[in-house]
Amino acid sequence: MNRSTARSKSPFATKHAFAKTLKTFVTDSGIEGGYYSLPALAKIIPNVARLPVSLRIVLESVLRNCDGRKVTPEHVERLAAWKPNAGRTDEIPFVVARVVLQDFTGVPLLADLAAMRNVAAAMGKDPKTIEPLVPVDLVVDHSVMIDHYGNRKALDLNMRLEFQRNRERYEFMKWGMQAFNTFGVVPPGFGIVHQVNLEYLARGVHKTPKGQPNAGVYYPDSLVGTDSHTTMINGIGVVGWGVGGIEAEAGMLGQPVYFLTPDVVGFELTGRLREGVTATDLVLTVTEILRQAKVVGKFVEFFGEGTASLDLPDRATIANMAPEYGATMGFFPVDEKTIDYFRGTGRTKREIEAFEAYFRAQKLFGVPKRGDIDYSAVVTLDLGRVAPSLAGPKRPQDRIELGNVKAQFSSLYSQPPTQNGFNQPAGSLYFRHLARSSNAARGTPATAPALIPGAARDVVEMVGNRSTLEASLSESEPAHPVDGDISIGNGDVLIAAITSCTNTSNPSVLLAAGLLAKKAVEAGLKVQPHIKTSLAPGSRIVTEYLEKAGLLPYLEKLGFYLAGYGCTTCIGNAGDLRPEFNDVITENNLVCAAVLSGNRNFEARIHPNLKANFLASPPLVVAYAIAGTVLKDLMTEPLGKGRKDLDIYLGDIWPTSDEIQALMKYAMRGKAFRKNYAKVASDPGKLWGKVDGATGQVYDWPTSTYIARPPFFDGFTMQPAQAAAGITEARAMALFGDSITTDHISPAGSIKEDSPAGAWLAGHHVLKADFNSYGSRRGHHDVMVRGTFANVRIKNLMIPAGADGSREEGGVTLLQPSGEKAFIYDAAMTYMAAGTPTLIFAGEEYGTGSSRDWAAKGTALLGIKAVVARSFERIHRSNLVGMGVLPLQFKGTDSWQSLGIRGNELFDIELAAHIQPQQDATLVITSADGRKRRVPLTLRIDTPIEVDYYQHGGILPFVLRQLLTA
Ligand code: SF4
Repeated sequence: MNRSTARSKSPFATKHAFAKTLKTFVTDSGIEGGYYSLPALAKIIPNVARLPVSLRIVLESVLRNCDGRKVTPEHVERLAAWKPNAGRTDEIPFVVARVVLQDFTGVPLLADLAAMRNVAAAMGKDPKTIEPLVPVDLVVDHSVMIDHYGNRKALDLNMRLEFQRNRERYEFMKWGMQAFNTFGVVPPGFGIVHQVNLEYLARGVHKTPKGQPNAGVYYPDSLVGTDSHTTMINGIGVVGWGVGGIEAEAGMLGQPVYFLTPDVVGFELTGRLREGVTATDLVLTVTEILRQAKVVGKFVEFFGEGTASLDLPDRATIANMAPEYGATMGFFPVDEKTIDYFRGTGRTKREIEAFEAYFRAQKLFGVPKRGDIDYSAVVTLDLGRVAPSLAGPKRPQDRIELGNVKAQFSSLYSQPPTQNGFNQPAGSLYFRHLARSSNAARGTPATAPALIPGAARDVVEMVGNRSTLEASLSESEPAHPVDGDISIGNGDVLIAAITSCTNTSNPSVLLAAGLLAKKAVEAGLKVQPHIKTSLAPGSRIVTEYLEKAGLLPYLEKLGFYLAGYGCTTCIGNAGDLRPEFNDVITENNLVCAAVLSGNRNFEARIHPNLKANFLASPPLVVAYAIAGTVLKDLMTEPLGKGRKDLDIYLGDIWPTSDEIQALMKYAMRGKAFRKNYAKVASDPGKLWGKVDGATGQVYDWPTSTYIARPPFFDGFTMQPAQAAAGITEARAMALFGDSITTDHISPAGSIKEDSPAGAWLAGHHVLKADFNSYGSRRGHHDVMVRGTFANVRIKNLMIPAGADGSREEGGVTLLQPSGEKAFIYDAAMTYMAAGTPTLIFAGEEYGTGSSRDWAAKGTALLGIKAVVARSFERIHRSNLVGMGVLPLQFKGTDSWQSLGIRGNELFDIELAAHIQPQQDATLVITSADGRKRRVPLTLRIDTPIEVDYYQHGGILPFVLRQLLTA
């Protein structure tokens, strides 16, 4: 049994306002540890015992870090006295245990740190003043693309291309590894950040090292990450969420992460999932329910007997999609299932014992039951009501039951865009068109970039001893030859991808996909030849258990060869389609589809020419690959013809839960996890080994089109410039509708040749084939500022509609006062040269989607001084403040449309001289005829610390001044 004991004279005691709460706990093996006890705090403030579990974990951090300066006793008392329903104006200073990064966001963060060291050195200070104070782990996962697929060499070839394209970025990471003490990198080819975090980086509880205040004191794991889906870690009881890179930098440099005290919505799960229903179906249902419950900016905490029944990977799948349902977190408390998962993934006995003993001592162990906790609101779901589903074709919250997919697609095909439709003539739905083949062999599309001759070969081979069965399955014939002309029609599935941490971290759905593939192959089913099929798991463990379970050869037989260990299709790195498919789609305006086990399906996210994107469980991805079209009702129509020309239905090959459970033993082998992740240090791969990193404490910025010294500290002084109180004579850069995503603002995907960024790269002698993606070039501001608002699907409604009501897409504006059309980047340079400030006007949920600090950085570098919107997404709003851009919100039902703003007016923003959080502001609109109107707005600088950030010109100068002063 674990014991919690009070000590009158604790060796851990420090001068602390709540020193009395410092206690000790003992593990099963008799190891004693100190901890700041929440039950002890509850004796002083009884409300603590009724707090949601997630808030109690945050409270522990506030309590432990209470130093009377950054974190005060009042902070502790206020959070301890949290009421389920109250006005939310207090900010919580949350000191996190660690930070995780992915490579797209990690590289610009590293570039900012390196630039700070330049400033420190230039000011005669020790560059080591700039050093992360908490462990930082960067997992390289976002870069790999599916150029090659559908054959055994795909993984090797894609990785070689990845290293070829990203060498400069990887060299820079290696510099970071040697320059900063607490900065680690999980090299390419190991997996996806959130899955690696679940399986390896998360260690349960931490112990404060010797030499630091509170040495020997244990505390729960917590983190922020520079990726929205950081919330996946909430599945194992870790409090954490995605923040922008600039906030993460502040966090790693010793600033607490500040956030407004949240409402906490309890989500009670009851009952059990029915036979044949997957975790993916469940998460799509949860997403739909929570979107309707409006949980934006709130914590969601799962409780009840249905929650307790869910295995850890299912919880993690649900936690992963918190950004899709809009919550800050989707939190699951720690219980026996969490401990089972830690055992199954190879954590040590000592770690597991400390983890369990700590949580028991804190009375935080176990899933609460109804009535245990006071939540702001409660939502319920009977798991027995969940049905097989997909979500799409444009938004993750638009769930469709499997039996309605065909009808829904058929209806949306001719619906107007305002109804989320595709606006096509209904009569053309079933038209098919011939795509003239270029005779390229499958898996080697004509567009696949060439490798540098003689590039090192380094196979990340987990797939070692292939069975005779496998050899006969996959080598006796190609997966599916595609020579010859193919007809393409609306609804055709052109990409079928088993992808994304959301699902590939969950063995039950991966094993289900493998079992379905096995039954399909045995029944004689095949995958249609025009489909780009890929298997891209979030860790090598997946390949290992699929192979051990004997299922990998069947997936391969259907074209699902291993194509990479990384985000791939989920982040839009699906690689190109065959050129003739692109031609036939664009020439005939076809609405073709992707089916993927990812979590996002915004326009152009997966591929610029695929307008309908459906999120589905891995077994359904395989099923749709076989069916070949979303115009087939998988509940009533056969998937295809099997042996002897027999019709085979989905029900014939759908695996049972007993069949899946029988194979789970292959998926949770602690030894396999330990062996795999030991290689991060001992065997990171030959390609990684060959990357030369610069050395030294200060980076010297060799010429590169990937990495450049960011301009955010140019002209830095220790005294902030006086921030102007308001904005005068500004012009509108754009008028946007609702749900403008961070990908609209700062796309991650491909760079068009005729865009400002493309022209800049071409001007620097970069060939089109080597443009790579915006995501991979986030270390270079010259590319990124040109790419801001450059998404090919963004619609600036300042441009008048066409005769048919359609809107021009792409990053263009009307330069005022002439009204001449120009790229937003070019217009911004003209305005900046003339000293004219600019504004963005937008609708609801501005900045929704992935956390992306370049969406705010690019906005600031374009000279945009304020964004006036109906509402903001949480992270993007704080990133705007962090970059010194004002977020302002319309009041009531006001919008730029209701105010008749056209884009040719002049605008002033009036603010009080002393900025206060959420104070009133005024928008003064001067129309072209000189008429003036005054419109009230709310300043969305939400907290006192954000006022400081804004007045310092942003978070980075603020933190740098603090560090250099210290
Ligand atoms: S797989 Fe998708 S959701 Fe997961 S980290 Fe990558 S891009 Fe994000």
